[in-house]
Amino acid sequence: MEKLLLHICCGPCSLYPVQAQREKAIEPVGFFYNPNIHPFMEFERRVDALETVSNSLKFDLLWDPNGYGLEEWLAALKGETRHGRRCMICYGLRLNRAASKAKELGMNAFSTTLLYSRYQLHEAILEQGRECARKHGIKFYYEDFRKGWSKGIETAKKMRIYRQPYCGCIFSEYERYEKRAGRLNQRFSESISSQGGATTA
Ligand code: SF4
Repeated sequence: MEKLLLHICCGPCSLYPVQAQREKAIEPVGFFYNPNIHPFMEFERRVDALETVSNSLKFDLLWDPNGYGLEEWLAALKGETRHGRRCMICYGLRLNRAASKAKELGMNAFSTTLLYSRYQLHEAILEQGRECARKHGIKFYYEDFRKGWSKGIETAKKMRIYRQPYCGCIFSEYERYEKRAGRLNQRFSESISSQGGATTA
């Protein structure tokens, strides 16, 4: 049986890829390394959901010892905040750690549940996965897990596990609610003009 380290971004996204790999007689070992998830309470919530999934599906799960990695993630970004560009760095950071861990454990390959999400930049993940595979001399297992999108959501709903409303970083949280934030800003500026420009501290 092929030994594969599966980088897992969150519980709901792991449901379909784990099943799909088992159907191919691959027993994945999960690996959680996601310094891109903020703030801490959100990180903890996603960790809890993943623990529920791994207990239910009964797969082994490894945690990166660095745990919550806000500072590490921000340092890797070097000030890049633009969507797309920062995602490329974010994927590279996480997949690089997964590839290195897979190599250290003597696995045949590594992969990622990021390939399941319709909201992620699929081609960029593939590019980063291949690049990390070359760098560490290990195979990157590619499968378009998006085909199991509906099936995964259905299972997550049945399990009643937490399904997050945004990708992970604080920028993606803002992007998710950008219109709402715009409406709020509009309200603030209208209230300031109705006060004749006066503000209180
Ligand atoms: S949107 Fe998601 S993939 Fe992109 S930088 Fe933020 S956490 Fe990473």
